[in-house]
Amino acid sequence: MDSSLNLLRKKAEKDLNQATLESNVVLVEDSDLDFTVINKVLSPKYNLRRFSSAEQLLEQLGDLKVSLFLLDYRLPGMDGIDLCQSIRSVPAFEHTPIIMLTGEAYASFEYKFWDAGCNDFIAKPYSAVTLQKRVEKELKYSALLEQHKEASMIDSLTKVFNRRYLEVVMNQLSARHESPEVSVLLLDIDYFKKYNDRYGHLAGDAALVSVTNTVKRALARDTDFISRWGGEEFAIVLPHTNYDGCQLVAKRIIDLLHEEHIPHEDSPNGYLTISIGGVTVPESPRDWKTLFLKADENLYEAKENGRNQYCLKSKV
Ligand code: GH3
Ligand code: MG
Ligand code: MG
Ligand code: MG
Repeated sequence: MDSSLNLLRKKAEKDLNQATLESNVVLVEDSDLDFTVINKVLSPKYNLRRFSSAEQLLEQLGDLKVSLFLLDYRLPGMDGIDLCQSIRSVPAFEHTPIIMLTGEAYASFEYKFWDAGCNDFIAKPYSAVTLQKRVEKELKYSALLEQHKEASMIDSLTKVFNRRYLEVVMNQLSARHESPEVSVLLLDIDYFKKYNDRYGHLAGDAALVSVTNTVKRALARDTDFISRWGGEEFAIVLPHTNYDGCQLVAKRIIDLLHEEHIPHEDSPNGYLTISIGGVTVPESPRDWKTLFLKADENLYEAKENGRNQYCLKSKV
């Protein structure tokens, strides 16, 4: 047990190291001499891009993909602290690691770096190994946070969003008080317990992934949102979609799954099918839980009526 845990830990470390290898490090440094030294230390491992002033960086900041900023404090024009604050005010870089390089490391001055939103600072003169390790540490930490963020909203089997994230999305939608129509669908695989019983749990897992991918293909808009509701059930949110649009999507999902023809010998059809319950409302829902409750009632009706079909209703 211990050794397999150790292996897992080592693999995670390796993945993390790999993730940091393709990192884009942006350096703002006016001194050519300092740049030469930093370049020698960092460029073997990372993509290093240098700007000679804060103004030069700010001009292009919107187009950059940055994993970490390394800012010299003393720069011609805007200094490193003001630059750090400017970077932090861009939503895309709110959490990007920033390290300051500084010759002014008096104890009474240090608070300014933290206040400006730096993650760390390196006092000059520094050694190559310190620069390298500090950069590596920030990149690893940030990659780790990214992994956790992803894991907290993605279902590990089907790779679609999980129910927790659906709740976040629905809360945002509710808060908007918009008036265009919204549709939601609840999907449930038919006779799935029998599928597992006959083909085994692993085949069941694989079928769940197939169904997910088929459903994803049926969703045409970027704003369409699919999440795993739980077990063999999925929730779909279709913003700006009226009853007709909702019906179109439900029909497309059922048709595409028919085309897949995933064998299921213990289903009356001989292949895997799903049932869908849905509801359309004229504006973004204040109380989205009731919306899914309605969709669930309609799903129940689709099941009662013989499965392998949708039951949708418009609610005014
Ligand atoms: P119905 O047509 O009424 O929906 O019947 P059903 O068998 O699909 O529904 P039921 O709720 O009785 O059983 C759902 C089954 O889905 C239980 C379980 O075997 C299977 N299931 C749920 N989650 C997973 C999963 O993550 N992996 C696998 N392999 N099976 C799952
Ligand atoms: Mg300088
Ligand atoms: Mg179910
Ligand atoms: Mg089911």
